Amino acid sequence: MTRTSFDYLIVGAGFFGSICANELKKRGKRVCVIDSRGHIGGNCYTEERNGIHLHMYGPHIFHTSNEFVWKWINELVSFNNFTLRPVANYKGDIFSLPFNMWTFSKLWNIRLPEEARAIIAAQSSSITHEPQNLEEQAIKLVGTDVYHTLIKGYTQKQWGKEPALLPASIIKRLPVRFTYDNNYFNDKYQGIPIGGYTQLFTKLLEGIEVRLNTDFFNAPLPAYDRVIYTGPIDRFYGYKYGELEYKTQNFKHELKEHVSNYQGVAMMNFTDAEVPYTRIIEHKHFDYKESPHTWISYEYPVAYKASVSEPFYPVNDAANNEIYTKYKSLAEKEEKVFFGGRLAEYKYYDMHQVIESALQFMRNHQL
Ligand code: UDP
Repeated sequence: MTRTSFDYLIVGAGFFGSICANELKKRGKRVCVIDSRGHIGGNCYTEERNGIHLHMYGPHIFHTSNEFVWKWINELVSFNNFTLRPVANYKGDIFSLPFNMWTFSKLWNIRLPEEARAIIAAQSSSITHEPQNLEEQAIKLVGTDVYHTLIKGYTQKQWGKEPALLPASIIKRLPVRFTYDNNYFNDKYQGIPIGGYTQLFTKLLEGIEVRLNTDFFNAPLPAYDRVIYTGPIDRFYGYKYGELEYKTQNFKHELKEHVSNYQGVAMMNFTDAEVPYTRIIEHKHFDYKESPHTWISYEYPVAYKASVSEPFYPVNDAANNEIYTKYKSLAEKEEKVFFGGRLAEYKYYDMHQVIESALQFMRNHQL
C-alpha cells in the first residue's frame, strides 16, 4: 500500500493558501504548498531593491476595520502609518483622489460642500433609477465632469471595456467625500508592513514544505490526501462551463538612478485614455525611505488569456457570475478539494477580506 506523503496539498502561496497551511501545521497535519511562480506571497509579494521594498504586482496598502484581522496580522508584522492619498493625472493636470473637496475645488473652482453637491446634483439628474452599470453609478455619485476626467478613461484602460458594460459595484469601492479628506480608505486601520509583505508569508510558511515553480496542472506532484486550491476555479474544471474572465496587467519596474523623489507620491493614476498605463507607483513613498535612487513601476493593463496570463481581478458582471455559479456548484460537491481566495471564489477580495475568509474557513472546517 502506498503511503500518502501529505495530508494536504495547498495550491497557491498567497494569503488564503499560506494561512491554511499555517493553521493545518498547527493542527499537526502534513502540508505541502505549491506555487507556479518562483516566490511565495502571491500578488502581495515584495522584493527589496536598493533598500526599497517593491510591490511587484501593484500597490498593496493594507486596510481594515476588523479588529480581529488587525490584531492577527500585527502579531506577524509591524506596520508603519502609511495612508494612501493618491493623485490623478489627467492630461498633465493634477487632481486629488478619492473624490473629495480638493478634487471638486480644483475642477470647478469652488470652496464649499454645498456648491459641490449642487453641481453634482445638476450633472447627475438624468440618473433617476437604480444605476445598472459603472457609468450610471459613477455619474450618479459624482456627476459627468468627474466621470469624464477621472473615471471613464481610467476604467476603460483598466478593464478593457466600456464602463457601461461593467458592474456598478466596482466604483462603489471608492469613497466620495464632501470634506477635504483625501484618505483613499474609510477603514479604521491602515499601513504597510515595515520591511515589506514577503516576510509575512515566510513566517506563515515556516517549517512547511513549499515547492515553487510547480504548476498543479503540469508538474509532478507528491502524493496527497486532500487539496486546498486557490487558483482560478475554471481552470481546475478544465473550463468545462467556459472561461471566466479575469483582468490582468503587466508591470514595468524601472530604477531611476540619482533621482531621490520622482513623482512625490506613492501612486499616480493616469486617468485619460491616451496614456497607455493606468498608474505609476513610486515604492519608496510606501516606506518613507530616504535614499539617493528610486524605483517606479508602470502598470499596463493587458488582455487576459486563460492558462497563459496571470489572473488579477475577477470581472464580476452577470455573465461571468453565472458561469462561476456553475463551477461553484461542482466545487460544493467535492469531498477532498476545498476552494478559497480571490481566484477560486471569483471575488474581488481585498487583503483583509481574504485573511478573514481564510481564518473563518479554518475555524469552520474540522480539517
Ligand atoms: N477608478 C477610476 N479612477 C481612478 C481610480 C479608480 O475610475 O483614478 C475606478 C476604476 O474603475 C477602478 C475602480 O475605480 O477599477 C476601483 O479602484 P480601486 O483603486 O479600488 O482598484 P484597485 O486598484 O484597488 O484594484
